[in-house]
Amino acid sequence: MRVIKFGGSSLADAPAVDQAVSVIQNTYRDDPSLCVVVSAAGGVTDEIIATARLASGKRIEYKDHLSKLRKRQMSMVSTIARGDRDVSDLVQELCLEFSSICDGVYALGELSAKVLDRLMSFGELCSAHLIAAACRQKGLDARFEDTRDLIVTDEHFGRARVDFGATNERMRRLDFMDAPIRIMPGFVARSANGRITTLGRNGSDYTAAIIGAALDAGVVEIWTDVDGVMTANPEYVANASPIEQMSYVEAMELSHFGAHVLHSPTIQPVKEKHIPLRVCNTFHPEFKGTLVGEQGEANRIITGISIIDDVSFIRVEGSGMVGVFGVAGRLFSAMAVHEVNLMMISQGSSEHSICFAIQSSDVQRAVLAIEKEFEPEMKAHMVDAPVVEKDMCVLAVVGENMRRQPGISGMVFGSLGSAGVNVVSIAQGSSERNISMVIYKADAVPAMNAIHEVFFTPNPD
Ligand code: ASP
Ligand code: MG
Repeated sequence: MRVIKFGGSSLADAPAVDQAVSVIQNTYRDDPSLCVVVSAAGGVTDEIIATARLASGKRIEYKDHLSKLRKRQMSMVSTIARGDRDVSDLVQELCLEFSSICDGVYALGELSAKVLDRLMSFGELCSAHLIAAACRQKGLDARFEDTRDLIVTDEHFGRARVDFGATNERMRRLDFMDAPIRIMPGFVARSANGRITTLGRNGSDYTAAIIGAALDAGVVEIWTDVDGVMTANPEYVANASPIEQMSYVEAMELSHFGAHVLHSPTIQPVKEKHIPLRVCNTFHPEFKGTLVGEQGEANRIITGISIIDDVSFIRVEGSGMVGVFGVAGRLFSAMAVHEVNLMMISQGSSEHSICFAIQSSDVQRAVLAIEKEFEPEMKAHMVDAPVVEKDMCVLAVVGENMRRQPGISGMVFGSLGSAGVNVVSIAQGSSERNISMVIYKADAVPAMNAIHEVFFTPNPD
């Protein structure tokens, strides 16, 4: 049993779908039962969100977006699912339902996370019906299988949490005897109360991992439009190259720190079951891509460099923080209560200041929360008003082999020094697999290139 997942770019238009179907055909030759998880066609989820927001903002242009979306899906039906009346009717029905929910959103001028999940689910549902039809056209015994009936979640709309007990039980009831290839919409699920939920943006990778783990798949493959996970983002580093092999932990660290090829929660289910995960390129299928498993590459010091841009850095300082217990606890609880995600934290041993990096969109919430929590101390001049630095990014250097190896951080920071990059803050977790730092956004390109050159330039001899 194998689980293969196709991302939006592998399903964006008819030629891409042809490529994906030929990958399915080839895989089916090696493996007689197959779960194929699909994303919405490239750009569709963003377009759905944009349409829904226009409608809730009482902007009548949502109608134009609606008709563009419908046209795109129906033209996919006519080129990909030629003559498949059932699929054409199904997609048509989905489009109608989608329009009437958007009309409701417009009438009310309101869009809840619950309704948005319902709307977003249409992208993956249409995709799955279309790919199932495209497979059948090529003579494959493929059937649409609704993941909403298989994956059970809570009702945390927008990023629902999976009930693995209930999900695994349902998954194990799947019988591949009647149809060996199942085409499944990624990203979507349903709560125990029957409400449609989604697993978070880019969550189709996660769907594939959940299914792979439940069915004890031999491998989970993520088919995308690049040659695997890269040593660095090629938009920043021209010499970036695909990583052949890496460990689950390295994959988790890299995806968490902005390497967008893998959605970070994806790793946990396959890691627990020791299932290998491969990242492959739909448009370059003979290339072996990146293998994620127990082991990384033995002869490499670092595995990759990744970056999260659009970060802000907040510094909380004050004489009243030195030697006082509970300050960090109060600060971080306030962030948790206001749902601010902390990417990186550092506190010098003088205890005079605590700094952390957050997404820029969270700044206002974070500042208000700090001001409220420390109002008495601020009035007494024991804690200063928080200082916010914008236009920053977090850069992370990741690698299993950095552990217990002296000199690595020297090489990292030495290269940054030579490139004239100012490092604002540094954190290294005690796992020693990740050195993270906050730098100015303007320094992102020179910083990534300087580190990449030191660790990835092949030795001339
Ligand atoms: N279509 C969803 C998104 O764009 C899920 C996915 O592509 O994995 O976020
Ligand atoms: Mg995606």
